[in-house]
Amino acid sequence: MNNEEPQRQDSDFYFRVPDEAKSDFNEHQRRIARRVAVVVAASLLVIIPVFQAFDYLIYDDSELFGHRNAVLRMPMMALALTVLGFWWSRPHGGWPRPMTLLLAFGLMTMMVGILGNAHYMDDLLAAQIHAAEGLILVIAAVSVCATRGLRDIPVIYGLPLLALPFVLTHYGVPLAELARHLIYPLAMLVVACIVAELIYQSYAESFLASRRLRQHALTDPLTGLLNRRAMDAELKVAQSRVNRHGEGYALIMADLDRFKRVNDEYGHDVGDEVLLDLGRRLQRSIRAEDRLARWGGEEFLILIQDTNQQDAFLIAEKLRRAVKDTPFVTSAGELPITISLGLALYQKESPVEAVITRADQSLYRAKQNGRNQTQTG
Ligand code: GH3
Ligand code: MG
Ligand code: MG
Repeated sequence: MNNEEPQRQDSDFYFRVPDEAKSDFNEHQRRIARRVAVVVAASLLVIIPVFQAFDYLIYDDSELFGHRNAVLRMPMMALALTVLGFWWSRPHGGWPRPMTLLLAFGLMTMMVGILGNAHYMDDLLAAQIHAAEGLILVIAAVSVCATRGLRDIPVIYGLPLLALPFVLTHYGVPLAELARHLIYPLAMLVVACIVAELIYQSYAESFLASRRLRQHALTDPLTGLLNRRAMDAELKVAQSRVNRHGEGYALIMADLDRFKRVNDEYGHDVGDEVLLDLGRRLQRSIRAEDRLARWGGEEFLILIQDTNQQDAFLIAEKLRRAVKDTPFVTSAGELPITISLGLALYQKESPVEAVITRADQSLYRAKQNGRNQTQTG
């Protein structure tokens, strides 16, 4: 039941997020995409007017170029404002993928147009400023795309790149020279793909590292079950659900009977084997929405959602039989094992600690009454 994730090896060139972490990772990517898109959009609102001002200040033929570039820059300003508006209207909300794609695509299209215009200039300073603007746009677009790795770059970059020969031809570049002009954008495409993939890999790696730490902090190392800290969080969620929807939950405290004898007679390692198998049996006997934790040394706490006294009692008895009916196969041979269970149902307005205490008291009575039974309190 130990669910250790594969660690990245230095020899691995390409690192994949394991399937079971994919949906978490998608959510993580969405949050990063949102953050990057907002930063890029806000920066554009500052940068674009500055370049527009340069156009009018620097060129001899400023009217023509200024107007031409404004046609490219205005839609980008509108797009940046849309992104910020969307972000503003959903402070905690999701981030649709088309928003990221649209932003990246807008950046690339504007970049191709700006570079196309720059191509037409004799003025060296003007051409340099345009090249700088193009570079800024590429960096911004790659940052936006990199939140999803290599997937988007070929489309986002490739489509405007396909348009580039037409733009250049429109501006009078002879056909024979087109290849020469396309070499740099193509080289940039390759670099952009590599950079985007590297950034994506580092996102994936840091995500998995923090996920591993989180799992370690919330998992019992022997059984792989939730530990007490994780269960505390689950109980708080259950309690707030009840406060909102009014459906009750039950807690079952399960404790191995005469477990000290197992340790004393067969050793601690065999005791550990019993605990591991017990964890598996209990886990198999509950529903996916219920929660099982190793609460203490040989005590397990089970949270049963949306239930009543009768159903919870049936579940507790099912757990007891899952232990009693089949001996535990250990390295010291087959051992007959039993557990005692204490059941407590949530009662309105009672804090979760009070329910735990009642489950504990029920368990105590089960022990007093001779063990291998369920008591309700
Ligand atoms: P009872 O039926 O009254 O519960 O008797 P018991 O012997 O099970 O109860 P007690 O609480 O006195 O003993 C619990 C034992 O569980 C003592 C301790 O050595 C053992 N234990 C606790 N944690 C672990 C563990 O991680 N591994 C092993 N092997 N034993 C453990
Ligand atoms: Mg005990
Ligand atoms: Mg015990």
